[in-house]
Amino acid sequence: MPLVDEQLARVLRVDLTNKRYRVERRDDLFSRYLGGTGVAVQLLKENLNPRVDPLSPDNVVVMAVGVLTGVYPAASKLVAMFKSPLTGNLGESHAGGRAALALRMSGFGALVLEGSSETPIYLSVHDGRVEFKDASALWGVRSSLTIGKVLREREPWPGLRSIMRIGRAGERLVRYASVILETYRHFGRLGLGAVWGSKRLKALVIGGRRAVPVADVRGYREIYKQIFEECLRSPSTRKYHELGTAENVMPLNEIGGLPTRNLRSARFEGAELISGERFAKESLARRIACAHCPIACVHIASIREIYPGEKYFYVTRYISYDYEPIYALGSMLGVSEIEGILKLIEQTDILGLDAISSGVALAWATEAFERGVISERETIVRPEWGDWRTYLKMLELIVDQPNDFYGVLAEGTERASERYGCQDCALTFGGNEMPGYHTGPASHIGYLIGLRHSHLDNAGYSLDQRYLGKSYPDPDALVDELVEEESWRQVLTSLVICLFARGVYKPEMISRALKPLGIEIDEEDLRALGREIYREKLDLKIRMGFDPSRLRVPRRIFETPSPQGRIDEGYVMRALDRYRRIAVPPH
Ligand code: SF4
Repeated sequence: MPLVDEQLARVLRVDLTNKRYRVERRDDLFSRYLGGTGVAVQLLKENLNPRVDPLSPDNVVVMAVGVLTGVYPAASKLVAMFKSPLTGNLGESHAGGRAALALRMSGFGALVLEGSSETPIYLSVHDGRVEFKDASALWGVRSSLTIGKVLREREPWPGLRSIMRIGRAGERLVRYASVILETYRHFGRLGLGAVWGSKRLKALVIGGRRAVPVADVRGYREIYKQIFEECLRSPSTRKYHELGTAENVMPLNEIGGLPTRNLRSARFEGAELISGERFAKESLARRIACAHCPIACVHIASIREIYPGEKYFYVTRYISYDYEPIYALGSMLGVSEIEGILKLIEQTDILGLDAISSGVALAWATEAFERGVISERETIVRPEWGDWRTYLKMLELIVDQPNDFYGVLAEGTERASERYGCQDCALTFGGNEMPGYHTGPASHIGYLIGLRHSHLDNAGYSLDQRYLGKSYPDPDALVDELVEEESWRQVLTSLVICLFARGVYKPEMISRALKPLGIEIDEEDLRALGREIYREKLDLKIRMGFDPSRLRVPRRIFETPSPQGRIDEGYVMRALDRYRRIAVPPH
């Protein structure tokens, strides 16, 4: 069916090597896959040799929005897809902020970045005009936050604009480097920052002013109002506004599912001190939202410090927090001081590192150090649980890579443990560092089989909570349930709806929301589309080198009791057998 907004089908292709760009129309992709993940995987398949080195100029980055972007509330995410330097296969990351709306309002539905510049550059895309600008003076600047401020002044713009940039971690090819958006949002996971660094792309500034047309204005207004109200008031979204995901700390600790000190325990004696409630009481300064999102889940804390050398002069800094960084840089490292966690989060922002991967890498290094697998010769400083000041230095060392050890740690926990040992305590799944849920077998099976090896792929942790105290289905049925959930999420991420609004955007609601945009698709067809996109991504992941028969399961998950008791290794292995038959069907 033809798109009501013709500009959505415009794909901006940027050749960083030759500093050229062109626009091509892909009505076929946007009308079939609706945008986001569905379109990105097709563009990646067409443009990327799956066997390339992820840090070579031949890697390709696709960024895409969907038909709902800028039209309905909470369809505020931008999808980035690429080959991940961390896992060596499919990389996908989602970010909020203003980027999705800025891309669409600039007149594009997707952006494809190819090649690599010889010198540092940044891209400026405003109302469809593309400029390649010298970023030599920005390369090597200590803080990514400074880069944001400089670009804000250099690129004045009256409309909606997004500033995406990498920090020094991306420049130095740390394989879990992030891309920072605006002030508090990120493409965090799977190393998009390192891919930009390898292309010498320091930043991407996009601004737009275009309006997005709809076919049936009256029908649109009706459904818009309903979605807006539900985003604002439904219990499924309210919780994200009130305490935010930091709310998870206490319930997870109470059931014994909060990974602590490299998952040597799943209960943290300092949990109350780093709970969402404590953060809110002691540090919450305000809440903000991504563009066009009434949920406003982004919680900003303030830190006030005395100005060095001055009496009664204070510096106040603002840092965003949510559950995952609190887990990775808090309980996982035994840190029970809010100040310490906030400073560690701030450090990952300044350097441009993924908070989850950084915390898990430091936790592995601390345990390996304790067990004598590595020594101060490698670590330079003495890591110790709870000592956040030393962890602040270690984050710098990961970026600076002053010795071989930090060079390998910058490649991720999996590679570091292969090289130095302590593999049983390396908490990686498919090469990606563990999210913060040790809730039972479904969470870990979910990380293992998820396309991104993320808790967001299939929400295995919520299945664990559903089966808490009850008997689990047989492993085949559990895997089928996880795959079905992940397939449905492909629809959400093609549209590109924030997953925090998934309780509002049920299949029936999506089908109704698409109608005023001239798109007729029923619930069953939506689910079929999700399954198709899931399969396309899985096939591409395998062609990129993913081998489901070589998935390593960290021993630690069987040693530390979960809320369901000790996880049955046989159950997990049978689940993986089922998954392998799905991933590589027998001929
Ligand atoms: S719920 Fe939060 S992360 Fe999601 S779009 Fe809204 S503000 Fe952004």
